[in-house]
Amino acid sequence: MSRKQPIYEGKAKVLYEGTEPGTIIQYFKDDATAFNAQKRGTIAGKGVLNNMITEFVMTRLAEIGIPTHFIRRINMREQLCKKCEIVPIEVVVRNIVAGSMAKRLGLEEGERLPRPIVEFYYKDDALGDPLVSDEHILALGWATADELEEIVGMTLRVNDYLCGLMRGIGIKLVDFKLEFGRVWEGDFPQLVLADEFSPDNCRLWDAVTNEKMDKDRFRRDLGGVEEAYQEVARRLGVLPESAEIESLNKDVTK
Ligand code: C5P
Repeated sequence: MSRKQPIYEGKAKVLYEGTEPGTIIQYFKDDATAFNAQKRGTIAGKGVLNNMITEFVMTRLAEIGIPTHFIRRINMREQLCKKCEIVPIEVVVRNIVAGSMAKRLGLEEGERLPRPIVEFYYKDDALGDPLVSDEHILALGWATADELEEIVGMTLRVNDYLCGLMRGIGIKLVDFKLEFGRVWEGDFPQLVLADEFSPDNCRLWDAVTNEKMDKDRFRRDLGGVEEAYQEVARRLGVLPESAEIESLNKDVTK
């Protein structure tokens, strides 16, 4: 782990100053929280798996032309990323009704939507990340109209690509959350996909059995949480060798 002072500690990650100018290091922890941190726990090896899965997904997305903050994986729990100014919006895409949408609108979980739905939530833990509309985002200056258009465009491309990628390994991509950041190139901000993509922030159901393979296993006390994350990594071809599994379980922030 980096010996530098953390610049930010979140629920599942710690950010450190990077080794090169304009970079940060994302350290992936095993800590898990749900329901705005009212439920807390640890998922052994989660940090390592989320680091590997995020590296895989960000690399594939860069290959199809999505700009991302990811530079390279440093070790089992850390990755080097471009430093960016995070747009204070969580962008959620839904292909199948689940979670808060099912609850809010009284819909049956599992119903496939006629087209993907993009939602925005204002990133504010104290307020519980409230659902907002594009009107709020523009009027309150969280992003410009051009940025929002770019964010929605990129999000739908990511969704199309990842739906296919997951289908290929027998997984339904139910929904997921993305975050974007601005990287300054001189006076001009460039939007990049930031944060992570892992079973912590998406819903993945087995295509045959509909078994949940994501953080809902932790949220809903379904058991088999570690195994589910490992199975996602295995199907993506990024599960570390068994010799490395030992070190998987050591989260050095503890
Ligand atoms: O809870 P909800 O149904 O709104 O979540 C939609 C998707 O966004 C889920 O995949 C969930 O894991 C993700 N999410 C997240 N971080 C949040 C809220 C939701 O990663 N703060």
